[in-house]
Amino acid sequence: MSLIRELFNKGIIKEENIAALEFEMKKKGKKEEEFLLEKRIIKEEELFSLKSEILNIPIKAVEVDEVPLETLALIPEETAKYYQMIPLIKKDNYLEVGMTNPEDLKAQEALKFLARQNNFNYRVFLITLTTFNNLLGQYRDLKKEVGQALEELQTELETSLIGSSSQTIDEFARLAEEAPITKIVAVILRQAVDGNASDIHIEPTHDELRIRFRLLGQLHSSILLPLKIHPAVIARIKILANLRIDESRIPQDGRFSTVIGSKQIDFRVSTLPTTLGEKVAIRVLDPLIGMKSFKDLGFSGRNLRALQDAIKKPYGLILSTGPTGSGKSTTLYAILHLLNNDDVNIVSLEDPAEYFIDGVNQSQVMPSIGYDFAQGLRHVLRQDPNIIMVGEIRDNETAFLVIHAALTGHIVLSSLHTNNAIGVIPRMIDMGIEPYLIPSTLNIILAQRLVMQLCNVCKKEIIPKKETKEIIMKELATLPVEAKTEINLKEGFKIWQPTGCKKCNNTGFSGRIGIFEVLIMTPQLADIILKKQALESKVLKEAERQGMITIRQDGILKVLSGLTTIEEIIRVTKE
Ligand SMILES: [Zn+2]
Repeated sequence: MSLIRELFNKGIIKEENIAALEFEMKKKGKKEEEFLLEKRIIKEEELFSLKSEILNIPIKAVEVDEVPLETLALIPEETAKYYQMIPLIKKDNYLEVGMTNPEDLKAQEALKFLARQNNFNYRVFLITLTTFNNLLGQYRDLKKEVGQALEELQTELETSLIGSSSQTIDEFARLAEEAPITKIVAVILRQAVDGNASDIHIEPTHDELRIRFRLLGQLHSSILLPLKIHPAVIARIKILANLRIDESRIPQDGRFSTVIGSKQIDFRVSTLPTTLGEKVAIRVLDPLIGMKSFKDLGFSGRNLRALQDAIKKPYGLILSTGPTGSGKSTTLYAILHLLNNDDVNIVSLEDPAEYFIDGVNQSQVMPSIGYDFAQGLRHVLRQDPNIIMVGEIRDNETAFLVIHAALTGHIVLSSLHTNNAIGVIPRMIDMGIEPYLIPSTLNIILAQRLVMQLCNVCKKEIIPKKETKEIIMKELATLPVEAKTEINLKEGFKIWQPTGCKKCNNTGFSGRIGIFEVLIMTPQLADIILKKQALESKVLKEAERQGMITIRQDGILKVLSGLTTIEEIIRVTKE
């Protein structure tokens, strides 16, 4: 159908103008109707009534606000825009659809497809471009209403976080029918908590929504869900964590808390836009983790004695160091928990607050609004604290304030990002701390890594291979005398390897344990710091003198006592 030819037949366009008009239209890449209206060759009403006549499709004029929103939702906005077709009204089991181009075969196909998918019959009417554009604006109201519905749903959703203990895909399918997304999310959270996962990753791939759990430091792919529920799952989690549902282009952070089984569990949520859509990572924060004993954390022998001495001192800095994910904050929380008595005022500054501890005044710093560790620490010092925890020393100003807090009679717990204990003192001096302030404030340095702990039920004793034995003997050769006498190693010693059983989900491991090196302030170390010469090598010498066991040596000792494997120690201590 050519409207230009039809208009020629009607005597509205002259024959000699046809070629020029067709050429111009092609060049501009315009649709015929738009082009003719733009050139003001004919009025819109006249053009569309002509079209109605030619196609033998009745024309319909519809006022804005006449289309109910639930009817509008039958054709998605993007489809409506692309094919210029829009629902008008639902009448006698028929959906009346307005189209500006009913002759467009692709638009017809699209409509047929939607009708099949959403189970409706339809009748097509011709509508003018003006009508179409006016009606298109109504999708904005639809969006608003969906938003309101989600808000109303929120309260309901919050109370229905009770999943099933069953964990099959079939179970997901059954639950999805009852209260689809709520239940799916609840089951994911429950499965993570039951399986002792530390993190949940919810990420879209090209054809599926993948849920992965981090167990014992390693990611495992666990559930694949249909990609089409991705937006709803993300929306559900955002509602729980009080994040903006309509914002998917920038990362967001939040948290929520819920009871799973009999435990109150906190979840920390962070979203990230990716090319395939939003990815969500959820950290599972087990509140019981802060109640671990020093022994459970992996302190033993000299390390345990040194830590117990350090926390008895009335003031000074207790510093935990290691790379990200080495368990620094878990150690600090355990110490904090032990120091938490009615007669002390404990204030903590954290980013983010990972565990909630009763009786501790925990404050979350927010560097984005200028409330950083340094700023927070100034406020905290006015709160008459006895014990202060500062999540991390990230800059010179915080380092300075931490040292001064320790100097003025407070117990200060903090962490620093260094690879080992030896590196801490040069690092503090690099951060602008006067060397003479360090001996009187710094109490103890705890450097650490985390390794997977062997499952007690199924671990198996083996005779180490020759190469393994060599690695072990080499580390033991330099072990301080005190520690050497404590282990009392015999010829033909054994080590353990993982097997896998029901209790450890066939992983062979159960939880993680720290391996430590502990450097304490001594008069000798003070002397070295004050002299400032050849600092690192002299600190190393002093470490040997005071009987410091290195992280790797502590790891080897834990291999010999059956807590972990030699492979784990090699994995986490290779630089
Ligand atoms: Zn086991």
